[in-house]
Amino acid sequence: MSLLTPTAPGSSNPGGDEEKLIEINGPLTVSDLATKLGIRPQDVQRELMNFGVLANLTAQVSVDHAAKVAEKRGFIAITATPAKAATTAGKGAPAAPGKKARPTGPTPRPPVIVIMGHVDHGKTTLLDTIRRSKVAEAEFGGITQHIGAFQTAADTGEERDGKKVLRRLTFLDTPGHAAFTRMRSRGSSAADIAVLVVAANDGVMPQTVEAIDHAKAAKLPIVIAVNKIDLAEADPNRVLTDLTQHGIVVEDFGGDVAAIQISAKSGLGVDDLLARLALEADILELSADANGPAEGVILEARLDTGKGPVATVMVESGSLFAGDSVVVGKLYGKIKAMSDDRGQKINRAGPATPVEILGLSGVPSAGDRLESVESDKEARHLAAERAADDREMRLGGHAGRIDFASLFEKIQRGDVKELNLIIKADVQGSLEAVQDSLEKLSTAEVRVRILRTAVGAVGENDILLASASNAIVIGFNVKVDPAAARVARDEGIEVETFKIIYEVIDAVENSMRGLLTPIYREVKTGHAEVRATFKLPNNNIVAGCYVQEGIVRRGCGVRVHRGKEVVFSGNLDSLRHVKENVKEMATGYECGIITDGYNGYVVGDIIECFEMERVHREL
Ligand code: GDP
Repeated sequence: MSLLTPTAPGSSNPGGDEEKLIEINGPLTVSDLATKLGIRPQDVQRELMNFGVLANLTAQVSVDHAAKVAEKRGFIAITATPAKAATTAGKGAPAAPGKKARPTGPTPRPPVIVIMGHVDHGKTTLLDTIRRSKVAEAEFGGITQHIGAFQTAADTGEERDGKKVLRRLTFLDTPGHAAFTRMRSRGSSAADIAVLVVAANDGVMPQTVEAIDHAKAAKLPIVIAVNKIDLAEADPNRVLTDLTQHGIVVEDFGGDVAAIQISAKSGLGVDDLLARLALEADILELSADANGPAEGVILEARLDTGKGPVATVMVESGSLFAGDSVVVGKLYGKIKAMSDDRGQKINRAGPATPVEILGLSGVPSAGDRLESVESDKEARHLAAERAADDREMRLGGHAGRIDFASLFEKIQRGDVKELNLIIKADVQGSLEAVQDSLEKLSTAEVRVRILRTAVGAVGENDILLASASNAIVIGFNVKVDPAAARVARDEGIEVETFKIIYEVIDAVENSMRGLLTPIYREVKTGHAEVRATFKLPNNNIVAGCYVQEGIVRRGCGVRVHRGKEVVFSGNLDSLRHVKENVKEMATGYECGIITDGYNGYVVGDIIECFEMERVHREL
């Protein structure tokens, strides 16, 4: 991926991006590379030494290394092949005429990994250890600084052409699910894999379970890091057994979740963990188009007294360039400077790359989306438009949220295919009963997905999960914590409490049934025979009828039969008995019927009456 995301192009960039692009489509000699870059072969050799490669003038330089040297020298390296297969020559990309003309199509990208787990189980320690890992130092030359995320390299144990294959991994540098949740609640997927840290001396704890809920709600694959195995009281097996009770079955127990034993403190097993994460990423086949405008998410932002607003962006697709005009939520800006997680100035950042940017018009919020656009004008325009939308949304409540009342509409628009629910109940028994009944309501159109079930009052954490996952919170015989109620109001989350199990089911079922396209059925109410006709002063004809069967009603649908033919269908507009207007007439009575727009009644016609009834559709 380094081929598409230069790590350190240097500060000099005299010709701008146009002149600084370099295509590397296959391995080339030190001399050739030097010529291409317009530098001395010795300089190429020196740069290569920084990567631990000793090479003479005729030695072949791999695409990966060539790209790195080029990037060090301020070039943007382009290759048609991803880093993984970089040592075999690519087909050759067409010459890129401008900075945004790139070989098209998605290319592999590193996974973005979030570390979650209970407090004090070792998340921060693990992140520190990973950040300082030897592989990372060799690969990137230096320690990361905190910008909200960092990249490291995993040694998968694979070799290609006699050299180790290192795989890039991007870690969110804020442990715990709070930051991750905030991002998700703003619509960012933010991560691809969750590492669940569980201390082997402590076992599965409340926040471990919460983390599992979050990972599952986000549909993230989980890798378990059983931590603190250096402690005498460590009991990794108990951790794994406990996890099965929360639906996590590790490979050793016949499941498909990886569990790696580590000591975040001593570093034991951490390389194995990284290698496993690289493998999980392979399975996910993550790819993104490094071409085209950048889209990303803000991880962190602050106001620096000297630099102004400083924000970290995780680029998710496309490429972000220094100098790009961008919109971030309601803010806009032109990227004045961009640096990577090592504090190195860079000109371009591709997918899964975290970068710090300067030049925004204000301080964005974590989770805000960033997009690069064509011009400053467009950026300003879009930002203004969003500010207006935002005002509207605030006035009209949280438009994007789901609640029972709006569920029907949302599903009809195709916005909701899954009804995410969080269920809290007073006792385990009722919890299970509610869960069972609600799960059964899933249909082909809408799936009921239960993200969390737990005994106890509705708490703030439930609201946060609901907010991140666009879920409805259901409380059964439990209260809502005042703090949770406040957060729910702020976040626009619907919390419904019930006392009777059927009420819960009815509420969910009714809102879901509302989702089904309504079906109407014709129900015959009765028929009358025309025995005479009268002309009114306004020329309308009244059919003097005798109700032969059932009931005829004002407003109902009518069909006029003459023998086997239907000569008219419409509505019964007026119904009279003697001189009175009436609502309905039953069998055996005489009445006058007027149907607007039909005056052709003939004695002997049969007026059939029917009503449309909405059919109760089963889920
Ligand atoms: P967090 O709250 O999950 O971020 O946990 P920390 O990383 O702050 O760790 C909590 C405590 O556990 C600290 O005192 C760490 O030094 C300690 N700790 C973390 N990992 C290990 C480990 O592998 N072994 C031992 N013995 N202690 C650890």
